[in-house]
Amino acid sequence: MSKRSIGVIGAGVMGTGVGQDLAQNGFEPIIVDATQDVLDKARRSIRQAIRAQTLMKGDGTSEPAGDVLGRITFTTDYQALSATNFVIENATEDATVKRDIYAELDRICPEACIFIANTSCIPITRLGGFTNRPQQVIGVHFMNPVPLKKTVEMIPGVHTTPETVEKTKALMADLGKACVVVGDSPGFVSNRVLMLTVNEAIFLIQESVAEPKDVDEVFRACMGHSMGPLETADLIGLDTILNSLLVLYDYLGDPKFRPCALLTKMVDAGQLGRKSGQGFYSYA
Ligand code: NAD
Repeated sequence: MSKRSIGVIGAGVMGTGVGQDLAQNGFEPIIVDATQDVLDKARRSIRQAIRAQTLMKGDGTSEPAGDVLGRITFTTDYQALSATNFVIENATEDATVKRDIYAELDRICPEACIFIANTSCIPITRLGGFTNRPQQVIGVHFMNPVPLKKTVEMIPGVHTTPETVEKTKALMADLGKACVVVGDSPGFVSNRVLMLTVNEAIFLIQESVAEPKDVDEVFRACMGHSMGPLETADLIGLDTILNSLLVLYDYLGDPKFRPCALLTKMVDAGQLGRKSGQGFYSYA
């Protein structure tokens, strides 16, 4: 297997973006998800994203989608990761799901393989404890959409070695990404703050204080943010927002992280944001 091959667990919003970014930077990602349907959808969405990028650039310099996709393996078989140097894990934000995945990776991947957790909120030290190699487990919180975002939040756990940090920084440099290294705490820096903001914005909708477009407009037009909290929630996925708040609530035990009932109701209704076509906004 080529040294450029990197495992990617999960073919949802983030795994798809990570896989595309790796392939566009010359790596050969092996994307693993639980079902072929999800993998087929990921292949289609990578093709669409590359076509959109090409149109935006408009100078004919982009590599054709077919060539990029030619470097990606889509599979449901974890055994395909038996010779990788890195695995980037982007599975559902649920510690129980991730625990089983890390146990499987630990069994299959080479001893030297580094596990990169792209979690929104789950502490890296906890994920490291699901393996026999916590020194080689590190958090890299990629931003969405991954190919367009040039900085990541990097989180070493208690047992993560400096060697793991350096090797992971080198991989990020190959992807053209800068790293902000922060301490290991639920939600790290970004989501400890962002999830509270999004949750509070949803309370405003629940209390009919304003319409979603007006909440977002205050952040865009008055405060100069590039996106408001509700369009950000739709981009992230309301299920991931809910899971993240539950992780923060569970780990920190602080009632300020209790999810707004409207958020739970929307997730129950399958209104997950962009990925389902309906959230605070509709996506045709
Ligand atoms: P998602 O729901 O879009 O995708 C999760 C994927 O994991 C699904 O395709 C699911 O089938 C797959 N999966 C579940 N169990 C699996 C298993 N055992 N093996 C392989 N695949 C499995 O979620 P997402 O938004 O892509 O989030 C993935 C991770 O990235 C989460 O931990 C999330 O917190 C984190 N994250 C999300 C964002 C964001 O903006 N959405 C940003 C940064 C980090």
